[in-house]
Amino acid sequence: MKTVKVSVVTPDGPVYDSDVEMVSAKAASGELGILPGHIPMVAPLEISAVRLKKGSGTDFIAVSGGLLEVRPDQVTILAQSAEVADEIDVDRAVKAKERAEQRLNDNKKENIDNVRAELALRRAINRINVANKK
Ligand code: ATP
Repeated sequence: MKTVKVSVVTPDGPVYDSDVEMVSAKAASGELGILPGHIPMVAPLEISAVRLKKGSGTDFIAVSGGLLEVRPDQVTILAQSAEVADEIDVDRAVKAKERAEQRLNDNKKENIDNVRAELALRRAINRINVANKK
């Protein structure tokens, strides 16, 4: 089975390095499925799950947006934050979700803090969903 190298990197360092059969990710333009030998491209990612198909199973990573770069033998994801499913602290994500919901409830008027709270809420929900897939 052909494979492609995948690296997920954040400002804190590498989060994931492996050879996989397929990368599935959610770009702003829609779902991407990347197989070995894919044409080179760069795409911005949503706050979403990246799925990495490997022989016996699938690895899941929560990414807070970022950039996906594809070369024929290497896929690189650069994200502000990214966590492999097993490393997600669900209690922390649930608390972050509650804080963000509270802020959105307290702050009905449209302002910059609502945008921040909305993004924090999406990151927290994404982490909870990814942690449940592992
Ligand atoms: P919180 O309010 O809980 O800090 P956040 O969405 O503001 O959540 P980020 O700024 O996206 O957090 O991430 C800061 C750092 O903490 C990153 O290294 C990220 O990987 C890590 N992180 C955030 N939430 C979790 C979590 N639930 N489990 C594990 N690591 C997390």
